[in-house]
Amino acid sequence: MATTRSIQMVDLQSQYQKIKSEIDTAINQVIESCQFINGPAVKTFSQNLATYLGVKHVIPCANGTDALQVALMALDLKPGDEVITTPFTFVATAEVIALLQLKPVFVDVNPCTFMIDEYRLEAAITEKTKCIIPVHLFGQASNMEAIMTIAKKRKVYVVEDNAQAIGATFQFANGKKQAVGTIGDFGTTSFFPSKNLGCYGDGGALFTNDDTLAEKARMICNHGSKVRYYHDSIGVNSRLDSIQATVLDIKLKHLDEYNAARQKAAATYTSLLKGVAGITTPKIAQYSTHVFHQYTLLLDQNRDKVQKVLKEKGIPTGVYYPVPLHMQKAYKASGYNEGDFPVSEDLAKKVLSLPMHTELDQDLQEYIIGALVDAYKSVK
Ligand SMILES: *Cc1c(COP(=O)(O)O)cnc(C)c1O
Repeated sequence: MATTRSIQMVDLQSQYQKIKSEIDTAINQVIESCQFINGPAVKTFSQNLATYLGVKHVIPCANGTDALQVALMALDLKPGDEVITTPFTFVATAEVIALLQLKPVFVDVNPCTFMIDEYRLEAAITEKTKCIIPVHLFGQASNMEAIMTIAKKRKVYVVEDNAQAIGATFQFANGKKQAVGTIGDFGTTSFFPSKNLGCYGDGGALFTNDDTLAEKARMICNHGSKVRYYHDSIGVNSRLDSIQATVLDIKLKHLDEYNAARQKAAATYTSLLKGVAGITTPKIAQYSTHVFHQYTLLLDQNRDKVQKVLKEKGIPTGVYYPVPLHMQKAYKASGYNEGDFPVSEDLAKKVLSLPMHTELDQDLQEYIIGALVDAYKSVK
């Protein structure tokens, strides 16, 4: 049965069909209003997201990469300042550091959670270090309690790259819970269509509890301007448009349900793979819920061959990410070499992400895992 269905990494079509009438009406209302930029939908969504996250300020912008860039600009970092992040992330995280003429400093990741290794973090901090960007990869948080303790002690800022973990919750040792992305000086996110909270185009946002930083970030997004045509700082043009905001406002109401569907699908994959030697299922850290932006396995060998066999059977998979950033051509100038971050390099050879979205069902998942295990056992 499942073989006759086309399988996608992310099934946005089925998700849309379920909310189609609400979405179509809302988009039409924006078109009728002709308030495409800075319309009421943008403000409403930003306020609703702030309430959902329990954060004081949500500053909408054009995409998740801009959100990171604006955060670093608002922190007044100067060329040559060092910013720490991991080499096992999407390129955007390091790209904005380099674009602002700051120096990316990489710290290897934990082999189980794939997050920045808090035990290696402090050794990477120098007098020039101004900021740490933990990336909450694949849907769960980095160890924010450990990172914030180090950051406070060494007086460096923290910007959480939360493009993949919106809706996840961090739990501190004392039991206190806080939305992932609202713990550092800034949190940033992306509303790219395939993200857990995705719009129908590009979008992004910054989160902060700091009034001064919020005001700065808002100004930077608006050409460095508070009063029209008066520019106090050099900014950028980065806006979330009203059509995207209205889509996001509808999808925000479903976010917990969407994340629960991802968690259920992840649990199904994990139980179907139980006891299969050579395939490691994702580990969930004690201190965070996991909203499974990706369901990422480790194959101890033949990852590329297995991926090819699955592709021939119509089963798409993803490799996030095949080359760690310190080994990318663009980041040669950072002065790193192969061998510098062995955990990230090893993960890049072994990771395989399975189809993950809100519309998976047991039959389809059984078919995918059956094909995966067959492929894994048969390739040499
Ligand atoms: C998607 C993503 C971004 C960039 O978001 P865009 O909206 O595509 O600019 C940044 N960091 C991480 C970890 C991401 O997954």
